[in-house]
Amino acid sequence: FIPVDRKVALFNPVLPILAEEQVIMEAINENPIVIICGETGSGKTTQVPQFLYEAGYSSSAGAIGITEPRRVAAVSMSQRVAKEMNLSKRVVSYQIRYEGNVTDETQIKFMTDGVLLKEIQKDFLLSKYKVVIIDEAHERSMYTDILIGLLSRIVPLREKKGLPLKLIIMSATLRVEDFTDNNKLFSVTPPVIQVDARQFPVTVHFNKKTPLDDYSGECFRKVCKIHRMLPSGGILVFLTGQAEVHSLCRRLRKAFPFQKNNTAGDDDKGESVEEMRKFKKSRKQKKVMALPKIDLDNYSVVPVDEGDEDRDAETDDDMAGSDIDLDLGDGDSEEDEKSDSSLPLYVLPLYSLLAPEKQAKVFRPPPPGTRLCVVATNVAETSLTIPGIKYVVDCGKVKKRFYDKITGVSSFRITWISQASANQRAGRAGRTEPGHCYRLYSSAVFMDFEKFSAPEITKRPVEDLILQMKALNIEKVINFPFPTPPPTEALAAAEELLIALGALKEPPMTGRLKQQLAAKLSCPISPLGRIMATFPVAPRYAKMLALSRQHDCLPYTITIVSAMTVRELFEELDRPAVSEEETAELKGKKARFLQIQRIWAGQGSMQKLGDLMVMLGAVGACEYAGCTRKFCEENGLRYKAMLEIRRLRGQLTTAVNSVCTDAGLYVDPKMKPPTEAQATYLRQIVLAGLGDHVARRVQAEELLDDKWKNAYKTALLDDPVFIHPSSVLFKQLPEFVVYQEIVETTKLYMKGVSAVEPE
Ligand code: ADP
Ligand code: MG
Repeated sequence: FIPVDRKVALFNPVLPILAEEQVIMEAINENPIVIICGETGSGKTTQVPQFLYEAGYSSSAGAIGITEPRRVAAVSMSQRVAKEMNLSKRVVSYQIRYEGNVTDETQIKFMTDGVLLKEIQKDFLLSKYKVVIIDEAHERSMYTDILIGLLSRIVPLREKKGLPLKLIIMSATLRVEDFTDNNKLFSVTPPVIQVDARQFPVTVHFNKKTPLDDYSGECFRKVCKIHRMLPSGGILVFLTGQAEVHSLCRRLRKAFPFQKNNTAGDDDKGESVEEMRKFKKSRKQKKVMALPKIDLDNYSVVPVDEGDEDRDAETDDDMAGSDIDLDLGDGDSEEDEKSDSSLPLYVLPLYSLLAPEKQAKVFRPPPPGTRLCVVATNVAETSLTIPGIKYVVDCGKVKKRFYDKITGVSSFRITWISQASANQRAGRAGRTEPGHCYRLYSSAVFMDFEKFSAPEITKRPVEDLILQMKALNIEKVINFPFPTPPPTEALAAAEELLIALGALKEPPMTGRLKQQLAAKLSCPISPLGRIMATFPVAPRYAKMLALSRQHDCLPYTITIVSAMTVRELFEELDRPAVSEEETAELKGKKARFLQIQRIWAGQGSMQKLGDLMVMLGAVGACEYAGCTRKFCEENGLRYKAMLEIRRLRGQLTTAVNSVCTDAGLYVDPKMKPPTEAQATYLRQIVLAGLGDHVARRVQAEELLDDKWKNAYKTALLDDPVFIHPSSVLFKQLPEFVVYQEIVETTKLYMKGVSAVEPE
């Protein structure tokens, strides 16, 4: 076997963007709007804010704002930039939905795109910013698209006021035509700066056969082969979800055990930041004093420019003449499965719900004598660049949420990625030296991938977006300069829902004329709508909050809404088990946690609140116990979710207090359960927000087909929907229920169910 040395690219001073500082800053000085395109890892996110800071764009008169579609990126990038600049977190800060560390001194602010949208509502001209950077624009997240549309109007307005605002759009791929060839958006086409990618060649190896469904097993076999047969260099595996990531991590750790008696890998990368600072200083001096030039870019291996190279080419000069078969083949061999402790593999998971301190591990060098192997979801595709990766294993799939255009029913589905994504993933292997990408699918399958994935705004319900836009007094949503407009039927569905919730003023006439007017999408916002728009939650939940002043229901509604908007409150127990012991353990846990949930569900009217009462009980009990990790583990709750609920409760409480100034609400860690009467009011409040989400149980005499057994009929769907076995209402099956959403897994299941029954 080939010995694995410790080889980590601690710090790579050839961040391509550093060579472009002057070009970028000149373009920004001379144009109000600039687009910067550069391959992932070229240094856009970490360096451009620093260029602007050094050029004096963050004087006391205004700050530099950077938006990220992902929370992970906003937090980790603000920390990285603060460190590189040797500035405190009070100066380089972040703000995400639930939290932030922004102060009066903040000059560089990283935030999620949703946060900036809320700020536009308070101050349309964004007067506290001198520069706004929209990062990761290629991801085409819904809020990013809207921000670009809004900023296309804000920039000229600021110009007129004599307080110019600079807008910088940064993107990883080359598809910027939606921004540049769009007169409605930018009447003057902004300049596009292409950052030389300095990507090393990546040899792409396709599988001859595409595995039917066991791509996880195929990943395992491929990693084993790479680790046994190929020279040192980190491995990055792309899978689709958290459960898959954990299961592969366990299998790999078992196959190549690594004893943790060595903390060398755990120390911080401080020195690399120090080097970065020194390097930058020397770069500055070089520029100022025009010293004789040492070519800092001159390395023994000259990077290949992106674009010149055929990335799919099978040749790799660096490896030519080597007798190692890098193509590995797709078959599997028995010995791969055997445990081998002579080859430690340092296996780390990476996904967006992972705790930040665990996420940070991937940036540190692995312990000496080990090889780094990161098993990641899509987060590693463009948002985060992991150092030292030489081999990429790409399963070719991604887990995505799909929404039915009419009914809004959502489901998570695993689908093929786009060609652009596949190329992004491959590119992760060529950051520090020539690399290899193993695609676990054939080249024929790849040719069938769509070129790019569609913008999010064309794929999901847009009612929250439309409410925010109406609150900005954009009445004719249809005329808005969307980079890519959502389908008209989605806009119409949103307008109708908002009218039904009372958030928009209903057209005064009836019948066809009314429909026509609604169809024109020009209903103005109502006073209720304005209140709803101030709550940082979707319109249905905002309506519930708006109603809850009555009978002291606000603290409960705030808690229910917080719990409903946080993803995955309960520990995931439906994961595939790796051993029989684990199967038994999961079964035991399931039974125990269901028992606990029955207790939280209470009695009488409380019990009729169903899943929502369980949420309320879970939060109440967890807070009472001090919201500890231990309590969560013992009671089947996800600790991170509970912390998020706590933050959201705090934030919603503040939001409600600012609307109802005399409410005097606070987050009570010892919240009592609601009274019987309050539980009944709460059911009415929930129904007011989810009025179109009512389902009726199909009665025995109506049973035409066995598939309707124990099923419910909704107004929106022809197919039967069900109460999930894990719901406390599963045993009761009330005649009428209201549900939060329908999610399709093996069947159509209602989530967040409560009973609508006469007392
Ligand atoms: P881009 O935005 O163009 O994708 P970034 O600015 O995010 O590029 O990254 C530039 C470089 O900085 C990458 O090589 C990456 O590995 C490194 N980097 C970014 N964040 C960290 C971090 N937290 N720790 C160590 N290195 C980091
Ligand atoms: Mg970036």
